[in-house]
Amino acid sequence: MTLFWTRTWDALAGALFPTGCVSCGNLVAAHDPPLCQKCWNQLPLIAGAQCRCGAPLHGAEGEDCGRCRRGRSPVLEGASLGTYAGPLRDCVVALKYRGRHRTAARLSVRILESERCRSILKASDALVAVPLHPDRERGRGFNQAHLLANALAGGCGRPVWSGLARTRNTRTQTDLSAGERRRNVRDAFAVGADAALKGAAVTLVDDVTTTGATLRECAATLLAHGVREVRSITVARAE
Ligand SMILES: [Zn+2]
Ligand SMILES: [Zn+2]
Repeated sequence: MTLFWTRTWDALAGALFPTGCVSCGNLVAAHDPPLCQKCWNQLPLIAGAQCRCGAPLHGAEGEDCGRCRRGRSPVLEGASLGTYAGPLRDCVVALKYRGRHRTAARLSVRILESERCRSILKASDALVAVPLHPDRERGRGFNQAHLLANALAGGCGRPVWSGLARTRNTRTQTDLSAGERRRNVRDAFAVGADAALKGAAVTLVDDVTTTGATLRECAATLLAHGVREVRSITVARAE
């Protein structure tokens, strides 16, 4: 099915046939996919002290998490809506693997409710989706990070810049150790000839971050091409 028909079907089906919550199976309000109200209220949000990278801290605000202590990230500041668990994980899976594209808009509303995310967006001139390799994007039909960036852009009035590309089709990071993840994405990104972002502050947008290796590599590439500051927002943080 083409992307157009996937999207059209997703929108029509949501309006005509109330579907079950992707997390618990309860009935979902037509305007509220893909979770029921109870599951939206139970998102595992990150609250309390956070490292500047967005990792939850056991200590006090302003401290560095273990990973940031081991090596300063080129990402100035990061935030995630919640941890990759429960209904939030079910949302990401629905968006990424089940063609439930309206999930991106609903998640962006939740992201914009977070004060930390709003301040990151406020400090940015543009949004940049973490790119997929063109082969993988063709296979999937879309880039979930791009859907999220577009939805967020509508809510915060910042443009989406698409000059960052993935030039190497890296293997999926899921089963890799932290060191392997770093090596896997090294030199995997490039910035196009467009010089629009010289001196600009941007926010990288992705669905899930685990070790932060992909965000760091994207940030390093952008900074090497004259971007002034890179921040990041992801839907979920997996550990
Ligand atoms: Zn539910
Ligand atoms: Zn950190």
